[in-house]
Formats: sequence, C-alpha cells, structure tokens
Amino acid sequence: TGELAGRHVTVAGLGVSGVPAARVLRELGAEVTVVNDGDDERSRRQAAELEALGAVVRLGDGDTLPEGTSLVVTAPGWRPDKPLFAAAAEAGVPVWGDVELAWRLRGPGAAPWLAVTGTNGKTTTVRMLASILEAAGLRTAAVGNIGVSLLDAVLSDEPHDVLAVELSSYQLHWSPSVRPHSAAVLNLAPDHLDWHGSMEAYAADKGRIYEGNEVACVYNTADPRTEELVRRADVVEGCRAIGFTLGSPRPSELGVVEGILVDRAFVEDRQKQAQELAEVADVNPPAPHNVANALAAAALARAFGVEPRAVRDGLRAFRPDPHRIEHVADVGGVRYVDDSKATNTHAAEASLGAYDPVVWIAGGLAKGATFGELVAKAAGRLRAAVLIGADRALIREALARHAPDVPVVELDRTDTGAMAAAVREAARLARPGDTVLMAPACASMDMFTNYHERGEAFAAAVRELAAGRPAAQ
Ligand code: ADP
Repeated sequence: TGELAGRHVTVAGLGVSGVPAARVLRELGAEVTVVNDGDDERSRRQAAELEALGAVVRLGDGDTLPEGTSLVVTAPGWRPDKPLFAAAAEAGVPVWGDVELAWRLRGPGAAPWLAVTGTNGKTTTVRMLASILEAAGLRTAAVGNIGVSLLDAVLSDEPHDVLAVELSSYQLHWSPSVRPHSAAVLNLAPDHLDWHGSMEAYAADKGRIYEGNEVACVYNTADPRTEELVRRADVVEGCRAIGFTLGSPRPSELGVVEGILVDRAFVEDRQKQAQELAEVADVNPPAPHNVANALAAAALARAFGVEPRAVRDGLRAFRPDPHRIEHVADVGGVRYVDDSKATNTHAAEASLGAYDPVVWIAGGLAKGATFGELVAKAAGRLRAAVLIGADRALIREALARHAPDVPVVELDRTDTGAMAAAVREAARLARPGDTVLMAPACASMDMFTNYHERGEAFAAAVRELAAGRPAAQ
C-alpha cells in the first residue's frame, strides 16, 4: 500500500465503487482526482464529501485524463472504449478496477478468495458457497458483484478465513493481477456484448478468473467453452481442472447419481471411487440449473477442504434471493412467477424451460442480444406473450419468425403502470393450470431503476389481481 502514497490517482466514476475507492486512496495518502460524466445533484453531494477529504472532483467530463495521472482506478461499468482509457493506454498508465484495488490492498495473511463468474447463477452460487463454508465453521462472507464491497471486506477489522467472491465480466476485465485460490465459470452465453465488443472478448474476460488459481479451476462439462478457458489459463503447478455435470461424474468431476450429488474429484477415502455429498432434494429449489449451481459451489468448497457433511448442511440452510424464479401467488388457478433477475436470454431460457404452458411477459433493454434461439426453444410451451419495454420489437420479430401461432400483445408504453397493464393482459390470456412468467430476457433500466424494482412492480400487480381490484392504470 506504500506504493500509493503521494501517487496521482484518477478515480473514474463516482457511485458505489468510486466513492469508497476515492476515500480509501485519500486515507493512503494518494493525490486523488475524481472524474465523472454526470453533473447531477447526487454527484454534487458525493463530490462535496470527497472534496472535504482533499480530493479534486471534475464533474461533467469523464473523458479527459487529468495531467500527471500515474494510475486510473475505474468503476467496473465504464466501457473499455471510453476515450479516457485510450488516453491512459497512450500514456502508459495502468487501469485497475475496484476489485483489483481490493486485491492489492489485502493485508499479509489475508483470506484466500474462492471466486465465481458466469453469465447466470453467480449470486446464487456464491450464496450457496458462503452457506456451505459457514456450515463448515469457517469465518466467511459473500462479497463482490453481489452488492457487498470487496474493498470493505478486505479492509474490515473482522477476520475472515476465506471469501466467497462474485466477479462480473466487467470487474474481471479490470483485474489484471487477481489470483483466486480456486474459481468457477458456471456458463457462458452472449451477454453484455455491446460492452465487451465481441463474444471472444467477453469469454476472455471471464476466463481471467482462472489465472493463477492454486488448487482447482471448476468448469461446466455441458459448456465446452468453460473447459476451453481452463485449458488456456496459466495456473499454479498442481492446480486441477474439475468439471461439474448433471449426469454421472467421471473421475475429477462432481455430478449426480440417482438423486445424489456425488464428488469424484476430492475423495478422502482412497478405498472409495466417489464421495456422496447431498441429495438433489437438499437444493433450493431443485431445478436443474440450480443443481448445477450447487455442484459448482460444492466443488469450490471441496477444493478448500470442506468436509461432505458441511456441503449438505450448507445447501439445506440456503434460501434463494427474491426475484429469482419466485412464486408470487396463484390467482384463478394460474400461477404467477417473478424471474425479474432473468436479464438475458440464457437466464430466461432456464426458467421458460421449467413451465408449460406459459404466458410469457418479456422485454426491456436487449443489450445487443438476439432472441431467435430462445423463442424457438420455448415456442412449444408458449400460450401467449406480452411484450413491454424499449426493445420489445426484437422479441416480436423473433416470435413472428419462430412461433407464428402464438398470440402476442404489445404494450406501447414505458411508464410505471406498464407492468400492471402487462399483468392484466397476461391474466386475460392465461387459462387455469397455466403459469404467467415474468422472465424478461432483458435489462430493466428503460423502465425501472433495477431488476428488483421491476420484480416488485410485477408482484404488486399480481397482488392487486388477487385482491380483485383493478391495478393502477
Ligand atoms: P447472476 O448473479 O449471475 O445474475 P443469479 O443467481 O442472480 O445469477 O440468477 C439470475 C437468473 O439466472 C435467475 O433468475 C435464473 O433465471 C437464472 N439462472 C440461475 N442459475 C442459472 C444457471 N446455472 N444457468 C442458467 N440460468 C440460471
């Protein structure tokens, strides 16, 4: 940390990662300049707070690199093609994300990281992992992209034995020297391609998570691209490639045999070929994609030396977060399910596959995605579709091509009442025994602050429906 004292550091972006980063850098004696695109009231409040600590803040210009900068610490969401980064590259100035900063500031003897990335299932897997580590009596925390700052965890006085770390592809892009104890890539499907530029660049950023792993690189046998990333990684000698599969595991894999989660990678008893860990019924909920998440979490815990019983106890103690295939209510024999967290097509595919027949509420910000494949796979199960949001035309076109017989209702509005209107339309189209599933396959920011608010709007509309009152217009 001594290397930062007196250094001219530019923090790119205020907000959840920039403000704490700037604060910590000031405490370490760095000369801090914060640059921020926005110049709204919230930015001005945050700027005043940082200026009181001796930082210089430039609002309304996030593109110019301040003179004398020797390091940039960026908010993970800033796109790599921003002019600021071209200027930094030109000047030979390194760029770190908030995760890189946390990694560099770890104290001696700091807790190792068990890291998880993937297009979908990260938060669930990291929470399952933390639950398993806790069941093993280890002092741990679920941190990172999950909403708990790694910087706080690393600098906290509370000692940790190990951290369960969720890393987004953005964070990995800006983390050149992070070296987890072990790491898992759960799956890889096109997402955030507008940010990364291409599928190859996105995969390469995800693959960074395996760099320097010490004990295990965990991959998904059903997704050969994840195994390919393991093969390409530069790891510590002796580090093993460990697969997880929903089928019967081969040696060095975890898998499922007759309803039992089985480990053939870390078997303590040399007489045995396999170690039983838990039952599929111990996984909450026991849907296939979630069993895959549980196997990945188990693999990381086992790589860290956790005993089988703690895997079972930890999975049993785990409770899923809201808005992830959450059953809201039954109204008139129709089931209403909130999967607002399905912000891309790959996630929506997992939940659409779980219901039949289904009235699908979808739409929002597509982030460069295409919908043909998703719609083609779901076509046979769709009773109807209700489309909302900015990029709904893309889904309408996919439905017209791959599911021409499915009735489609399109709502040409993006106000706060649009979700209630969508739920009313869905209720009209559904028959008893159907499921109304809000799994938008899109980001929410065109209509809502985030996926949480979108899920709450859906749940509120369903409750109004249940109460027999017309929902707000
Ligand atoms: P993330 O943190 O990666 O966004 P979450 O655990 O919050 O992942 O789950 C997001 C959504 O992705 C869930 O609502 C569910 O629909 C879907 N999902 C969860 N796990 C998987 C998986 N292993 N494969 C595909 N989809 C998944």
